[in-house]
Amino acid sequence: MARVHNFNAGPAVLPLAALERAQKELLDVNGTGMSIMEHSHRGKAYEAIHNEALALMRELLGVPDNYDVLLLQGGATQQFALVPMNLCAEGQSSDYVITGSWSKKAIKEAKKVGKARIAATGEVDGKFPRIPKAAELDLDASAAYLHITSNNTIAGTQYREFPDVKAPLVADMSSDILSRPLDVSRFGVIYAGAQKNLGPSGVTVVIVRKDLVESGNESIPEIFQYRNHASQNSLSNTPPTFAIYMLRNVLSWVKEQGGLSAIAKRNEEKAAMLYSVLDERSDFYSSPVEKDSRSRMNVVFNLPTPELEAECIAQAEKRGMVGLKGHRSVGGMRASIYNACPPESVQALADFLRAFKK
Ligand code: PMP
Repeated sequence: MARVHNFNAGPAVLPLAALERAQKELLDVNGTGMSIMEHSHRGKAYEAIHNEALALMRELLGVPDNYDVLLLQGGATQQFALVPMNLCAEGQSSDYVITGSWSKKAIKEAKKVGKARIAATGEVDGKFPRIPKAAELDLDASAAYLHITSNNTIAGTQYREFPDVKAPLVADMSSDILSRPLDVSRFGVIYAGAQKNLGPSGVTVVIVRKDLVESGNESIPEIFQYRNHASQNSLSNTPPTFAIYMLRNVLSWVKEQGGLSAIAKRNEEKAAMLYSVLDERSDFYSSPVEKDSRSRMNVVFNLPTPELEAECIAQAEKRGMVGLKGHRSVGGMRASIYNACPPESVQALADFLRAFKK
């Protein structure tokens, strides 16, 4: 078996231990004579795994009791719509910080549901090299919430500190959830598609403060109401059982690593390995991101020409390093180094980049 060094942006590399556990249990989970995929979502075998995933999520993030943790479908993209549908009262507006393609998509959906305005933008000449500072926020005092994208998968930027605001803070954490310790109590809603740090695609984790669940709009279809999913332990209809089983495996792995403090330390060290290559005195590699906005999950960089970038990607692939092409909307190169990307893979890439430069 030859596993590659996987730098995919998502779906992305999974912890080997989580995959091996699935392999071992694929035909017979917990001595039940069938795979988890073949179990009823109303049965005891599945329910135990479902509840274990929820409990691990709570434990790892330290989710306070006044929050619900939901396991939904539809991806983070569905949350772009569900957040305003649930949280905006009739005629109420919401605020958005625009830090790249994903926040642009989020506000576009909010405008279909009601009113939404831009509270700040990180855009400079059509690009998104920075996270706006808290002092730049132009807030609407009566906004239903302020929406941010904690890590920008395409632009390669990440919040270091979260703004302190009166309105509930809503964060799309799809590409950095569980990458560092978090004070959940500062947020109204946190949501994340699983396919970067949590597991395979197909399940979306949503953490919502209970008062927002309870005051949520009741006139929308029940399948879209946080209230409906919260009151039924995310089992109001058939959940994506295999994706949730894999989420459980990944969360167990995170716990075995020593939880989020240990994971954060590992992530910082991994990111430093690559940024140190970009910062070495030379005009060969360059980063389009301002230093204090750099992402520890998606390291975005450029070479002097698109031809050299293509050559670098091709040579890396020959050495078993895949997923290094930048997002099609921005070009360049990108190494996504989520929780499960082993330090050895990042070291191999750093060594290769130095050799390629020579
Ligand atoms: N938000 C962010 C920050 C993302 O990176 C992505 C996907 N790459 C999305 C939202 C959209 O997620 P999904 O495809 O799960 O809807």
